[in-house]
Amino acid sequence: MEEERIAHILSILEEHFPEARLLLEFRTPFELLIATILAAQAQDERVNQVTKVLFQKYQDVLSLAQAPLEEIEHIVRPLNYYRQKARFVKEAAREIVEKFRGEVPPSLEALVKLPGVGRKTANIVLGNAFGIPALPVDTHVGRVAQRLQFSFASSPDKIEEDLRQLIPREKWVRATHLLGFLGRFICQAKKPLCHTCPIQAFCPYPEASFPNPPRS
Ligand code: SF4
Repeated sequence: MEEERIAHILSILEEHFPEARLLLEFRTPFELLIATILAAQAQDERVNQVTKVLFQKYQDVLSLAQAPLEEIEHIVRPLNYYRQKARFVKEAAREIVEKFRGEVPPSLEALVKLPGVGRKTANIVLGNAFGIPALPVDTHVGRVAQRLQFSFASSPDKIEEDLRQLIPREKWVRATHLLGFLGRFICQAKKPLCHTCPIQAFCPYPEASFPNPPRS
């Protein structure tokens, strides 16, 4: 049963990565929303450096909505696509002020209508800032789900759907932290480190059967 295999894998990963968590830093749902918009195709560490400056200067949604676009651009410039991201950040803040009285809506349908917010971003905010069961599929979670053959899909939305069927609802968020850490630190895109992988025995990926030898 695939439900049992994934449950077993998650319990091994829980022991291996007790520190697994979202690596973006935030204090409020709004900060997480903005950090996640900025994190598209960017490293979390770099996003954290940028948001530290951004949230120090603009401490609430209204001040960010009213901030001059050029000033936001200047702060987020270390990130790729910074002009587009700056626009998304300002526009998302403005819509939250105008349509939701300054509060991030805890609803997938509402979140995905905000500028720069897709399903993955919305799920990250719901799961990590609101504690609502959600299953965001980022590049790491998606790759691991494919290699473990929990999904044969290529689109993150379909992978999310497949994982939802296999993992109990209350474990969705934690599962994304654990699978994300596995993908980030062991099951890496170019060369998975199967010889150090704690779930190698449960993995059908060909590399797992012929593990790369440890470096001497
Ligand atoms: S055994 Fe290898 S391919 Fe399978 S999950 Fe671990 S690192 Fe990834």
